[in-house]
Amino acid sequence: MPDKLRAENALASVILFMKPTNSVYTGLPTTVFEEMSRLAIANEAINLGQGFPDVDGPMEIREKAAEAVVSGPNQYPPMLGIGALTEAVAQTWQRFQGLAIDPRREVLITSGATEALSDTINALVEPGDEVVLIEPLYDCYLPLVKRAGATPRLVRVTPPDWRLDPDALSAAFSARTKAILINNPMNPAANVFSKDELRLIADLAIRHDTYVIADEVYEHLVFDGGRHMSMLALKGMRERTVAIGSAGKTFSLTGWKVGYVTAAPKLLDPIAKAHQFTTFTTPPHLQAAVAFGLGMDDAYFACLASDLQAKRDRLAQACAGLGFGIVPCAGTYFLTLDVTPLGLEADDVALARRMTIEAKVAAVPVSAFYSGDPPRNYLRLCFCKKDEVLDEAVKRIGGWLKAASETAA
Ligand code: PMP
Ligand code: GLN
Repeated sequence: MPDKLRAENALASVILFMKPTNSVYTGLPTTVFEEMSRLAIANEAINLGQGFPDVDGPMEIREKAAEAVVSGPNQYPPMLGIGALTEAVAQTWQRFQGLAIDPRREVLITSGATEALSDTINALVEPGDEVVLIEPLYDCYLPLVKRAGATPRLVRVTPPDWRLDPDALSAAFSARTKAILINNPMNPAANVFSKDELRLIADLAIRHDTYVIADEVYEHLVFDGGRHMSMLALKGMRERTVAIGSAGKTFSLTGWKVGYVTAAPKLLDPIAKAHQFTTFTTPPHLQAAVAFGLGMDDAYFACLASDLQAKRDRLAQACAGLGFGIVPCAGTYFLTLDVTPLGLEADDVALARRMTIEAKVAAVPVSAFYSGDPPRNYLRLCFCKKDEVLDEAVKRIGGWLKAASETAA
């Protein structure tokens, strides 16, 4: 046997007898977003899968970051975040939700909302606890809850109306419920919880003495004149809610990974300790630039939503013209299409892959956001793209559908 093969065999047998690595992460598939992006790149497809804009956010914000890199400081910023950013986050709470937030004791800057979610779950949850989650689930929720040793209690909403069943939600709570994690506006559902739904969640949280982790990264991407209502602003929720935001979405700079946590001091303190031993800080230049961005006038935020709304309408109309069923979209970057009217194969995973390879347009199968027996006839398309890119994507999908129907005939 050649030496190289012998060495490889020896290594394989050592690995086989070593202790198992962590059971939550070992064998976990790569996220659907990364998977579809890789497939899109490999097939030179238009990527309407993973949610990111194809035009970078405001130049003034990027210039601030560049200036800050050059002028410095470039050393560790304060663990909770630079003063200018914690202050700016507090001011946006006042501006958009009418809430007085103490920037020194109630705001934490993290490296993206993903880190904020991880810090928060690690800081609030312990083995033996239960956490209520609403499916469809953003990819990191379930593994993070499991890794914290808690038992997830899943409640499901489904397209096209994504209605939250009060009885199912209420039944998911028990004496062991430590937290409920909600995403509002919700990815991929693109729905915005009504005031009644938020009140229902809040009342259950109060009744069961439960924390609410509110992932509100799409807070400024609400359409049709709707306004985001934060769980933190609901009566009785100030002390038990952890609100999470992301500059990535608000400024179309998803690669920056600057997130913010807002919570009462008693909750923020352990979350900051989890952050302290996860990343400790977030690059100071990006923080300075985001602080500048949060200070931009109301017109910026209104324009962000209206531009995206126009893109939603452009894509929705064109896809309806191709025969897809269109699921209502009240916010976020995402439009959900029902493929049933087209008589296409029912498996959304296979369909998303085929569409990427054959039509050269990538999408995300909605079933990826569910655990166990998901709906399989929906695709999620990301519309924060240039108009000409959306038009070309629709043209390609149209041509592909036509060719498929001719082959079938
Ligand atoms: N929550 C939701 C619902 C998301 O869609 C995303 C994706 N961007 C995140 C959290 C993560 O945000 P960030 O990139 O700031 O980590
Ligand atoms: N939030 C993005 C989406 O839903 C993906 C972010 C990521 O890939 N981690 O597409």
